[in-house]
Amino acid sequence: MPAFLARMPAAARDYSACSGCSLCLLVCPMWRSRHDPGFSPEGLAKALQCGATAAALAPPLDACSLCGACDAVCPERIDLSGMIMDLRRRLANSPLPDVPRPALPDDLHSRLQQGAPATAPVAPRSAPVLLPGPALRADAALLAQVQALLGIAVFDDDGDDIALAIEVGVVIPPLRLQSFLDSLRGHSIVAADGLLLRQLRRWLAGSQRMGLGAALSTRAAVRSNLGAGDLYVIEPRAFHADYERMVGFYDRLQRETGCSFNLDLQRIAIPAVAPGMAQNPGFAAGDEVQAKWILQGRSPARIVVESLADRAVFGRVCDLPVVHVAELGVDPQMMKEFRHAFG
Ligand code: SF4
Ligand code: SF4
Repeated sequence: MPAFLARMPAAARDYSACSGCSLCLLVCPMWRSRHDPGFSPEGLAKALQCGATAAALAPPLDACSLCGACDAVCPERIDLSGMIMDLRRRLANSPLPDVPRPALPDDLHSRLQQGAPATAPVAPRSAPVLLPGPALRADAALLAQVQALLGIAVFDDDGDDIALAIEVGVVIPPLRLQSFLDSLRGHSIVAADGLLLRQLRRWLAGSQRMGLGAALSTRAAVRSNLGAGDLYVIEPRAFHADYERMVGFYDRLQRETGCSFNLDLQRIAIPAVAPGMAQNPGFAAGDEVQAKWILQGRSPARIVVESLADRAVFGRVCDLPVVHVAELGVDPQMMKEFRHAFG
């Protein structure tokens, strides 16, 4: 068995189990934007069955948004996004001159080597902590609102370097990973990055973890401001990383509030845009096409998003009000004052 498959969870099956049923094409944003069989999970699995190398598959590997929709729908239970991440790791760590690679931030390797700055822990063990991700951290007013709603501190080592390394396939130095995981052990974790959340599920089995959007939507102040006119856009990576549990969670939210979701009939969260590589010029996965597809046949009064990337794309494709789920938990006047206070 190839080494990269040996790292998959025991329950997952590998590409050799692909039957060619094509169900994954129905949910894959890469397939929707390209309409090329090579740019699909089925195409990748079939190519591997025929002996294709990671280098030969570089364009679809880079175009994949790692939304995880194909994992949830595959009847053979193939860990398709895990397979894609492993192939990306092969590409990133054995670069070939004739295989173009996306540009990485110049400082990624040095950040991974240095690790987190040595600061005092922000929360005692067992206290919940927040890993906000770079987009939320850049919006100080919204971050303050998230913290006020959840009553939690931003963790001193937010793991942004690790999240990016997972996304692009760069190997994480073992000492860096160990120190990150050791510092998180014992805490309940709320993470904005669904891909990091997925890996934490493997690395810290048994720990309590939740995506940022789901955590915010547990708050009464948020739920009481959701209604039947709202289209609530679930962040797909966090949703599919814990699919069975999240289907039940959002079912309850819908029964209580009457809002609708970006879920298809198979209860797969339709992605609008994924962070990371999908935002890299040349690797965009057709996010506006996806956002328009989500809106097709619906006439919501408002769009509520869990991800800041989704707020931007829906703002471009429609004239509806688009709000982040954290903004539902605060009086609009108070949010204005928050924004004023944080400049
Ligand atoms: S859904 Fe699974 S079995 Fe079916 S084509 Fe896709 S990868 Fe293959
Ligand atoms: S993770 Fe998403 S974009 Fe990538 S192959 Fe699966 S469905 Fe397509």
